[in-house]
Amino acid sequence: MTPERIVYMDHSATTATDPAVVDAMIPWMTARYGNPSSVYRLAGESRKAVEEARASVATVLGADPGEIFFTSGGTEADNWAIKGVAFAHQKKGTHIITSAIEHHAVLHTCRYLEQHGFSVTILPVDETGKVRMEDLKAAITDQTILVSIMTANNEIGTIQPVTAIGALCREMGILFHTDAVQAIGTIPMDVRSMNIDLLSLSGHKFYGPKGAGALYIRKGVRVENLLHGGGQEKRKRAGTENVPGIIGLGAAIGLAAERMEEQALRVSTLRDRLLAGILERIPHTRLNGHPSDRLPGNINVSFEFIEGESILLLLDRVGICASTGSACTSGSLEPSHVLRAIGIPAERAHGSLRLTLGAENTGEDVGYVLEHLPGIISRLREMSPLYADFNKRSMDV
Ligand code: PLP
Repeated sequence: MTPERIVYMDHSATTATDPAVVDAMIPWMTARYGNPSSVYRLAGESRKAVEEARASVATVLGADPGEIFFTSGGTEADNWAIKGVAFAHQKKGTHIITSAIEHHAVLHTCRYLEQHGFSVTILPVDETGKVRMEDLKAAITDQTILVSIMTANNEIGTIQPVTAIGALCREMGILFHTDAVQAIGTIPMDVRSMNIDLLSLSGHKFYGPKGAGALYIRKGVRVENLLHGGGQEKRKRAGTENVPGIIGLGAAIGLAAERMEEQALRVSTLRDRLLAGILERIPHTRLNGHPSDRLPGNINVSFEFIEGESILLLLDRVGICASTGSACTSGSLEPSHVLRAIGIPAERAHGSLRLTLGAENTGEDVGYVLEHLPGIISRLREMSPLYADFNKRSMDV
């Protein structure tokens, strides 16, 4: 059965490339296909366009164009930042600090470094998903070379005190990397005033193309190369530039910055309406993450007594695209490491649903989800032995 409509509420997993971004990219896949490293005019055009995209990214971050390096996305940027700093600064120290709710691109990179002589402190977070400044201060040693804390979480949307973390790191002479993959284009970022030394971003999270991202590296910060080969990106990142992707990234970040304020207000208004409707209509439901310091489009709720995966299947039947935990881990039976880190017991973490709203969502979409979700949850609860047990216990009282 084909659903009557498709309601996409998984913008933290990826976004549709904006038609204006697609238009900007197409010439660089057709007539203007020159390799930026070649010498003729066709190549010069590509070179110039890549530099314009670099300037566009730099403007949005408050950086200099020379501090922006294009990558294949957020995962590469995170790997490069963390391994690059670790290997360049290991004579100074071998200790890295991160948090328990980072994306696996950060956590698994840190785990890898542990196998290569580095030690890693994984900071806990409070029940809203925030890192506590006192924990960070207490974890710093004379061996600490890097703090890597994400700007905003991909599952629960919690926004970290990045400015305070940056100020502390700068004062202590420790480099600060932030994975801003979920934040760019959604909340304002300024690398200078926030004392950020390295920042990762990814185009497909803000209506740009997949496979295009960037790492900001503050001028003067030493970082080992991750990829070795040709002399691209000022000899720091080898490989022929993904010219169409880079052009798309530059166009998308510019549009996102232009629209950010208006979009954040519109999307958060829809989100608040949807959340209020869910909490009003579905008993035994809780919001996960911070009540206010969260990304404008993020809802993460736990429905007691049921499995998130089965909610997703039934939502999909009526055309609603959502997720449990993060897209990269959905399909696995492990409860989300983020929900566990904010203290949610495994059985409640299993019944979690993430709805992330974005540019194309409307009030009608909110109405559609509210029309279908409560029925889906009650149907699943009717089949749930946990719910039957709960009802029996309530009756016995
Ligand atoms: N970091 C965060 C916080 C993310 O949400 C993601 C993607 O989900 C990534 C890193 C990885 O980015 P990419 O998909 O561009 O490799």
